[in-house]
Amino acid sequence: MSTTASPTAEGWRFDNSYARLPAPFHSRVDPTPVPSPRLLVFNRDLALVLGLDPDRLDQAEAAPLFTGNRLPEGAEPIAQAYAGHQYGNLTRLGDGRAILLGEHLTPSGQRVDLQLKGPGPTPYSRRGDGRAAVGPMLREYLISEAMHHLGIPTTRSLAVASTGEPVFRERPLPGAVLTRVAASHIRVGTFELFAALGDHDSLRTLVDYTLRRHFPDRVDLPNPGLALLEGVCIRQATLIAHWMRVGFVHGVMNTDNMALSGETIDYGPCAFLDAYDPGTVFSSIDHQGRYAFGRQPSIASWNLARFSEALLPMIDSNPESAVEQATGVLEGFTGRFRSEWLRLFRGKIGLTTEEPEDAVLIEDLLEAMRGAGADFTRTFRGLDPAGTPSISPSGIPEAWYTRWRDRLGRQPSTPDEAAACKARHNPAVIPRNHGVETVLSEASDHGNLSPFQELLAALRNPYEDPTTPTPLLDPPAPGTPRCRTFCGT
Ligand code: AMP
Ligand code: MG
Repeated sequence: MSTTASPTAEGWRFDNSYARLPAPFHSRVDPTPVPSPRLLVFNRDLALVLGLDPDRLDQAEAAPLFTGNRLPEGAEPIAQAYAGHQYGNLTRLGDGRAILLGEHLTPSGQRVDLQLKGPGPTPYSRRGDGRAAVGPMLREYLISEAMHHLGIPTTRSLAVASTGEPVFRERPLPGAVLTRVAASHIRVGTFELFAALGDHDSLRTLVDYTLRRHFPDRVDLPNPGLALLEGVCIRQATLIAHWMRVGFVHGVMNTDNMALSGETIDYGPCAFLDAYDPGTVFSSIDHQGRYAFGRQPSIASWNLARFSEALLPMIDSNPESAVEQATGVLEGFTGRFRSEWLRLFRGKIGLTTEEPEDAVLIEDLLEAMRGAGADFTRTFRGLDPAGTPSISPSGIPEAWYTRWRDRLGRQPSTPDEAAACKARHNPAVIPRNHGVETVLSEASDHGNLSPFQELLAALRNPYEDPTTPTPLLDPPAPGTPRCRTFCGT
């Protein structure tokens, strides 16, 4: 997977390996032109990482590029075919409102997908319009960049451009296109499509392609299907543990929204916890709480079970033996997630050594926080062994502090080292729901992007205490009803 072509004047260097895969993998489709493209946000830092010329791209003449009106040189637009379990039910899907322009090679040799989200209908659009609105696209831009700066694997956002055309949802909304940069868009659902069709040739091609692209060190293992399953389980265990560390709720963990690369993908009704409660759900359509904060590890495990089912014919021609081998790998996910979670939560309370009772100490803290409705981010960030918990608004009992202080006393690290460890694991700044809603409605309803830009800037250094007070970063006032977020389709 390499190309020798030199970059274009704007810096593009495409090599479209997915487009070269056989017909069932995708459909060739062009973006539908829009009347008046206008650049709303452009990610100069990301452009530099990609080897693009930000001065050429961050201006009015570039807007047509970021809506699909003009294609970058070397692009070969396709919509990708996939299926997916949505709220538990398998459905045939595909890029209904996204078009992959191709794979760009960065100066450091990375291969990244460049995808437009909202560029008009594709053969997989079903009854949808293939379009997206300004608010949800700015939301994905903001939250994905926040996740990136939090140090969590994620797709990123290069630009959002408005189209000059309304999209019709509950009410007409201004339309927009997001340019998304991802390690790839291969999902659990991509495998489920070919498994459901009984197309084992395509399944084999996909296993081989995905191993080469994302797990080059596993290409030569004796059982490619099993090697892929294990590689994906390892990355998902790490990813979900990090979501739990920062209080991130993905909101729609359907199998088509789980990327094999291990990146967080598809920011729809996602949000960060304010008050800690594992039952927290933000999505307006998740009535059963299937994708609640605390269920994310078990849902990940459920999705990986669907992935392993799709892989069974690749693992062993004897179905029973295939199931046995896959089950062994899947069981490893739970243990791996648990140890990754414990490692990160030890860090959150400043522990630099391991003791068997640490998990109980952490769980007792979480239980006290839940009982008190304590703010997840503030409580961890503010935990201070020298503090005066009796006047702490977080409701953590003195007895817990005593146990914690004793535990800290049994490790060799100095108090400063423990505090530094805590500061690395606990962000001071997260995108608060009320702040996100405020800046998005200013942008979408009033065309004012300044609050969005301010919030975006504040999210760039999440592990440092902000120097100026920014009300948008504060926890919501007590008694504020929980925000609801909508899929934005
Ligand atoms: P999502 O909820 O964004 O993960 O999307 C789930 C599926 O619905 C994907 O196959 C999307 O391509 C499709 N979809 C979502 N919104 C639209 C839309 N406005 N037009 C066409 N397809 C859509
Ligand atoms: Mg999706």
